[in-house]
Amino acid sequence: MPSSQAPHPTLLIPGPIEFDDAVLQSMSHHAESHVGPAFVKVFGESLTLVRKLFQSTSPTAQPFIIAGSGTLGWDIVASNLAEKGDEALVLHTGYFGDSFAACLETYGVHVTQLKAPIGERPSLGEIEQALKEKSYKVITITHVDTSTGVLNDVKSIAALVRRISPETLVVVDGVCSVGCEEIAFDEWDLDVVLTASQKAIGCPPGLSIVMCSGRAIDRYNSRSTPPASFYASIGNWLPIMQNYESLKPSYFATPATQLVHALHTTLSQITARPMAERFAAHTQASDRVKAAVAELGLSQLASKPESQAHGMTAIYLPSGLAPPDVLPGLMKRGVIFAAGLHKEIATKYIRFGHMGVSVTDTGRNDIDNAIAALKEALAEAKQAKGL
Ligand SMILES: *Cc1c(COP(=O)(O)O)cnc(C)c1O
Repeated sequence: MPSSQAPHPTLLIPGPIEFDDAVLQSMSHHAESHVGPAFVKVFGESLTLVRKLFQSTSPTAQPFIIAGSGTLGWDIVASNLAEKGDEALVLHTGYFGDSFAACLETYGVHVTQLKAPIGERPSLGEIEQALKEKSYKVITITHVDTSTGVLNDVKSIAALVRRISPETLVVVDGVCSVGCEEIAFDEWDLDVVLTASQKAIGCPPGLSIVMCSGRAIDRYNSRSTPPASFYASIGNWLPIMQNYESLKPSYFATPATQLVHALHTTLSQITARPMAERFAAHTQASDRVKAAVAELGLSQLASKPESQAHGMTAIYLPSGLAPPDVLPGLMKRGVIFAAGLHKEIATKYIRFGHMGVSVTDTGRNDIDNAIAALKEALAEAKQAKGL
């Protein structure tokens, strides 16, 4: 079936990503009250679908869907689950570790960053040592750092934290992983996974999605000081989410109604099939991309296979080439990749996002077309530079 979307270059950056037609169409919904029964049902079901997305059946776990970008999730964590003067351990695998740390510091939280060299991740041994040195209220893990394409082993880190420092809340920044990397919220005993609508979930930008454990909600309830934010206050949103999910109208601040329709559509599509199947499809596509990168004689920022993300690939350019030498050639061939983001090496690499419908809707042929475009654009750029 031909797409209902205007012809456009394929957006293969690590979010926002390409949309399914039905997701976009569900946004052109007529005006409705945000507390009317029809919308309350869509919102309530969306919360239940978020539980499915996280493979969670825990009755104490609580999903939140709030208008805002992924960054709002950091503010929710920093202003509700830690207090001024508390200690937080931030595992740093790129740009997003620095930003989460800066957010925590904004609320007076004291941050220790455990930094790995570019393209690597802190080892379990290093994390264990750090956990033994101080008592941390919170540890944050960037599941996939979008600046480097480095994947963290969240399951093993969470098990380690439970063994060494059971009171520490395990917070996962899953903005670039939820919907493409395996996450089992209950089974891995996680406390917070925060994400955004526009990455592997395949919804337009504008929604912050946060899943909290019962332990995280208890932490909020036992604060000795009020939360440090009004809009981001768990106390203000918790009854709203609970009411919507039990189909009762409720108001704290107006939800982004059209985006919630889009989210409902995409999550219904995603959870209609086993999540394991979706993760396997992303792994397969990723393997194809990584093989093509190797065949082109290029290397990835994430050097070890076990620490390579499955929804994106960060690719070093041949020496002598910078992103502006290659990205226009890709655009000419109908493909949009992203430039580098890690500030120390941003001019040396490009990023290829392979998530969502570009992976699961194989009829689109997005991944193979992009690999072919990359080959041609690189050859053209090398020739132009006499390399
Ligand atoms: C994109 C991203 C964010 C920020 O999300 P916004 O929606 O841009 O606010 C945070 N963390 C990671 C890992 C990301 O990829």
